[in-house]
Amino acid sequence: MVSRVIPVDPFDLVIFGGTGDLARRKILPGLYRRFLAGQMPEDARIIAAARSDMDDAGYRAMIGEAIAEFVAKSKQDKSAIKKFLERLSYVAIDATGEGGWDALKAATRKDVTQAFYFSVAPSLFGPLAERLHEKGIACETCRIVVEKPFGRDLASAKALNATLAQHFHEGQIYRIDHYLGKETVQNLMAVRFGNMLFEPLWNAQYVDHIQITVAETVGVGGRGSYYDKSGAMRDMVQNHLMQLLCLIAMEPPSQFDPDAVRDEKLKVIRALDPVEPDEFVRGQYEGDKDGQSYKADAEDAQSLTESFIALRLHISNWRWKGTPFYLRTGKRLKARASEIAVIFKDPPHSIFGPQEARRGNILAIKLQPNEGMTLRVTIKEPGPGGMRLVEVPLDMSFADALGPDGSDIPDAYERLIMDVIRGNQTLFMRGDEVEAAWAWTDPVIAGWEERGERPYPYEPGSTGPEEAQILMHRDGRRWREVKE
Ligand code: NAP
Repeated sequence: MVSRVIPVDPFDLVIFGGTGDLARRKILPGLYRRFLAGQMPEDARIIAAARSDMDDAGYRAMIGEAIAEFVAKSKQDKSAIKKFLERLSYVAIDATGEGGWDALKAATRKDVTQAFYFSVAPSLFGPLAERLHEKGIACETCRIVVEKPFGRDLASAKALNATLAQHFHEGQIYRIDHYLGKETVQNLMAVRFGNMLFEPLWNAQYVDHIQITVAETVGVGGRGSYYDKSGAMRDMVQNHLMQLLCLIAMEPPSQFDPDAVRDEKLKVIRALDPVEPDEFVRGQYEGDKDGQSYKADAEDAQSLTESFIALRLHISNWRWKGTPFYLRTGKRLKARASEIAVIFKDPPHSIFGPQEARRGNILAIKLQPNEGMTLRVTIKEPGPGGMRLVEVPLDMSFADALGPDGSDIPDAYERLIMDVIRGNQTLFMRGDEVEAAWAWTDPVIAGWEERGERPYPYEPGSTGPEEAQILMHRDGRRWREVKE
């Protein structure tokens, strides 16, 4: 299957923090892949900005190395890399200082699409918005891309929204959540709303429960000082898992349009019940294996921050009343694997006898490492010997379907950046969505802080604390095994 590539309009993309980890690992390699795919027009320009003293040649050399390191070898075309690097330039700017803004103003064009990517520490999001305005660089039609985290609670998210709103209207603000840029996540909407098969069954009458797992094998590593003030609830649940939950649970929007989709997502967040203390389990990795202990990675050796969390959520609306949603995410787990699984109820009556009774269908949507979907269906075991049933997966791996080595699937960042240039906000969080998510998250965190709850220890390389299994067993269910 050959995917269609539609070139975007000419643009100037300014990347604040263009020398940082995210820019080198994801943003620039992604832009190179879009260039290689023919999506970038001749006169597209990328301007990096950071404090370091560097010229264009130095920056191009840095990004040449990043492409060599982070782009698949099969996509490294020498002449294409050279042409791509010619589009890059560098301006030295301190987001909070005075120097460099005139040079940036001179480097950007008013007659093309302008986007400013804030790939810097969150404390600089507000100052950057202010400076762009004050220095006369921002215009009525330009866009800003804001990285995560968007606040650390409702009050800080509101304050940031208010600062951005002083200089940009909501239609100009692209709050990025790279989970929404994943092929499978968008496919989830295609599967739900492009087929007749699933939507009639997509409710509490037919769905037993839903599991969302985002498991990482890496620990906190060098991010200890940031993570210790954040934790799995703030770093992953409030944004990424919440967004996945919204797309799974929302009502069909009237059209695939940014506000129609985001209105429906917002309704889901607002319908979430408060989480009771016995409906979540927090964990912290602790073990001697290779010295992998959260407390060794964290800033505070007494830290009570969770590196794992599992929760049971309820959505109080007609569609989902009675269907629990189980979410879990954590670091230093057994596998790096993320999936959403919709577990359908068993058929109401087994005509094949009691031993063949429990045969629910499962739709599993795999987000990483290999994006794809599997539908578990029940069939007769082939051969003689009576009517014995087996479950088989109807499997669709996007890598197999879309490209010889899977490398034709655009990475989440490159897809989202192209959406910014096209002016399509469907896959970006709106300000009210982010605030609603914090309004739900804040009391849960405040509750465990007030109670002084300690996270349960779990072995690095395990599936998390035993108590997370008990959370499921209590309801007569169990977590699915997620594999790499
Ligand atoms: P990083 O590696 O620390 O890079 C920060 C960048 O900001 C550097 O280019 C730095 O260059 C520049 N910078 C720092 N202070 C500045 C100032 N006062 N004025 C102008 N530029 C300044 O950070 P990162 O990991 O790339 O993360 C960037 C943003 O993306 C953060 O908001 C982070 O939370 C978010 N994010 C990152 C990842 C990831 O995988 N890295 C994932 C999700 C979200 P100079 O020191 O030369 O100024």
